[in-house]
Formats: sequence, C-alpha cells, structure tokens
Amino acid sequence: TAAALARDFGDRLCGEIARPYRLKDIDYVCTASIGICLFAGTETIEHLLKNADMAMYRAKDSGRNTLRFFDPEMQAALDKRSSLETALRQALERQELQPYYQAQIGPAGEVIGAEILLRWKTADGRFIPPGDFIPLAEQTGLILPIGAWVMQAACRQIKAWEGDARASALQLSVNVSALQFRQDDFVDKVRGLLEDSAIDASRLKLELTESMILDDIATAIEKMQMLRELGVTFSMDDFGTGYSSLAYLRKHPIDRLKIDRSFVTDLPHNPDAAAIVNAIVQMGRSLHLEILAEGVESTEQLQLLKEMGCAMMQGFLVSAPLPAEQASAWMSQHCQLLQRQ
Ligand code: C2E
Ligand code: MG
Ligand code: MG
Repeated sequence: TAAALARDFGDRLCGEIARPYRLKDIDYVCTASIGICLFAGTETIEHLLKNADMAMYRAKDSGRNTLRFFDPEMQAALDKRSSLETALRQALERQELQPYYQAQIGPAGEVIGAEILLRWKTADGRFIPPGDFIPLAEQTGLILPIGAWVMQAACRQIKAWEGDARASALQLSVNVSALQFRQDDFVDKVRGLLEDSAIDASRLKLELTESMILDDIATAIEKMQMLRELGVTFSMDDFGTGYSSLAYLRKHPIDRLKIDRSFVTDLPHNPDAAAIVNAIVQMGRSLHLEILAEGVESTEQLQLLKEMGCAMMQGFLVSAPLPAEQASAWMSQHCQLLQRQ
C-alpha cells in the first residue's frame, strides 16, 4: 500500500512539475526525476537518503520525467559490480588476464592468422569469459590499460612468429574497444607500439565494430587512414548486427568483413540467415573486401558458406581459442601439414 501511494503521489508531482509555465514571453518546461525508497523504521537517515538518491539516478537514466523505486536487488547488483571492478583491477596487476588465440582459415584450409581473445583466470582457478568483464571494463575505463596490454601481447606474438619461417605470413587480429579507438592519441599509441616491437605492421589487424565508426565518421576515417599508412589493416567485426547504414563501407579503409556468429549459427537450415549471409558475401565481394565467417561449427555450415563464396572462416570446427603454447603447437602442426600436402 505504501508503495502504491508513493507511486501515485510521485506521478502527480511529476505531472504538475512537467506543466509548461511562462516567464515574461517565454514558455519554459521543467521535469523532475524522482527516487523513492520505502523504509521500516530501522534504517538511518543517511542510508535512506543514499538509497533514494540511487533510485533518483535510475529515474534519470530511464529518460527523466519519471520515478523509480530503490530495490535491494538493485543494491545487490551494484555491490556485485563494484567488487567485480576491484577484482578486475587486481587481475590486471596480478597478470591474471591471459591471451588466447583462435585460428583463422583461408580458402584451401590453410591458416591465415589468428584472433587474440582475452580470458580472465582468477587466482582460485575460476574462469571468467570476456562477455562478463569486457562490458564492465568499458564502463569503468579499465579497458584502456587492458586494451593496451592486449595490443602489446599481440605485438610480442607477431614478433615470435616472425622468427618462424612457417608463420611468416600470418596476421594477428586484435579486438579494439570503442573507448580505446576514441582516444585522441590512439594512432600515436599504436605507432609507438609498432616501433617499440619492431614488427611488420601489416601483420596486425584491428577488429572494429560498426557502431564505433558511425559514432564520428570523419574522425574515424582519419584515424583509420593514418593507421593504414603505417601498414595496419582492419576487419569489421560482428558485421550485420549493427547499423543499416552501409555508406561508410565505401569510405573506410576496411579490408575484411566478419559475418556475425548469430547468422552462421542458424545455417544451413534457416532461410533468412542464409539470405543475409548471401547478401553480405555478394556485397563484400563487389566492394573487393575479404569475407570471414565467425563461429563455424559444422561441416554443413562450412559447405554452404563456401558455396556462397565465403572463403575464410573461424570457429570451433577448426579450433577453439587456445592458450598461447597450445595455439603455437596447433599452428605449427597445421602449417607443417599443409606444407607436406
Ligand atoms: P568477438 O570478437 O566477436 O569474438 C568471437 C567470439 O566467438 C569469441 O568469444 C569466440 O570464442 C567465439 N567463438 C568462436 N568460434 C566459435 C564457435 O564456433 N562457436 C561458438 N559458440 N563461439 C565461437 P569470446 O572469446 O567469449 O569473446 C567474446 C567477445 O569479447 C569478443 O567477440 C570480443 O568482442 C570481446 N573480446 C574478447 N577479447 C577482447 C579484447 O582483448 N579486447 C576487447 N575490446 N574485446 C574483447
Ligand atoms: Mg573479434
Ligand atoms: Mg565477432
């Protein structure tokens, strides 16, 4: 009953405040965001105000001119988040983040390179997938030191490959987060890394997503072109899941489209997925882009992709992401096999 009464009263308050009013000859509108917390009488005033404040920020996040209740689940989620954040910060210091490598395969089944995928192995042996900590790293800005660290690991791996004749043509793909790419000195940072590690820049491929480019097209083009001049190449990750604007594809120095796993998963039986994949392949080919299918798990999927003209792929069918040593062993075995063929 208390909650219902508070809501009614809050709604009326919002409605009254949102009514336009006139000062001199100008109409003004002002809206309110209201946070409400219920109490049993045992909490301190500071505690109640803090909870109401938190609910108010949620009202603001929900588009303003509205009200939100504080609820304990919300608090629990916030607590969990903040302890995860502390743990992630420590993980970076304690080097609990590990690069894994997933092979990428070309038209003849040959290895053309790998993608570096981050894993967080906690001190107690638990394993946290990137989907659970990359978004948090992005929200807290921790993605910047993490991203720099991954890029360094990538350059070291490329350097190691350079010493192995069989691996001399492999490219390593690195996922770049929006926050990282938007840094004013992103190009300088990459240039510095390339110089320090003395690697051939054409071996480094940066994976971007559509949303980060469309955010500020002009600046993104400029950055990509500067990096392209250094020799760095680009893949468009998760292609097909973002915006419908394709105009940017003509202007950007993109070399490769990666068809998102969600479409590949639905092959070969889902006709809608097949139609989309087919359209992406056709378009990519007309624009002279390489097309790589993500998340290929079955030979049926591979067969259909090949028939459609998608020659490159990555997925469990060939190899899951592996830790550095296993990946190197896998790569050299696979490269040797091909040499013998
Ligand atoms: P992504 O870049 O699109 O990576 C592909 C994801 O698909 C990886 O998940 C990979 O393990 C998974 N995958 C590959 N083949 C298959 C398959 O055949 N079947 C299935 N079911 N899954 C497959 P993962 O490693 O969990 O990474 C998830 C996402 O986290 C990545 O998506 C990427 O967006 C992000 N991420 C990973 N490492 C980094 C990093 O170092 N920096 C940044 N910014 N993001 C990263
Ligand atoms: Mg990727
Ligand atoms: Mg992807």
